[in-house]
Amino acid sequence: MTKIIELTVKTGERTQMIDITGDILKLVQNSGISHGLCHVYCPHTTAGITINENADPTVITDMLNTLNKLIPVDKSYLHREGNSDAHIKAALIGASETLFIQNGTLRLGTWQGIYFCEFDGPRNRRVWIKLST
Ligand code: ZN
Repeated sequence: MTKIIELTVKTGERTQMIDITGDILKLVQNSGISHGLCHVYCPHTTAGITINENADPTVITDMLNTLNKLIPVDKSYLHREGNSDAHIKAALIGASETLFIQNGTLRLGTWQGIYFCEFDGPRNRRVWIKLST
């Protein structure tokens, strides 16, 4: 059994998607695991993890603009903390992804990257990673 590794992510905007593929790839390559699974988990209720295109940065801009249009910051939500939009966005994106480790590296699609999705930043955030054979 491998232990859970914690990554820290410092976000700079209220809504933001940060490419963490390189950080996770380093952990996989340093783990000595040739074949297995890489679980990436976000332990926050107003942030999430997703996999999407990391070739054209306008895709991320379009995703964030669309999420903000569909789920605006709106004062009519009941939740007193005032960040219901962030909770809803986080629920839609999801808290985790599971990736394949093959030949000591991550097997991702050609255009895919792993993103930490901030919806109530800026904050210091954590990502938990577990690698298994
Ligand atoms: Zn809240």
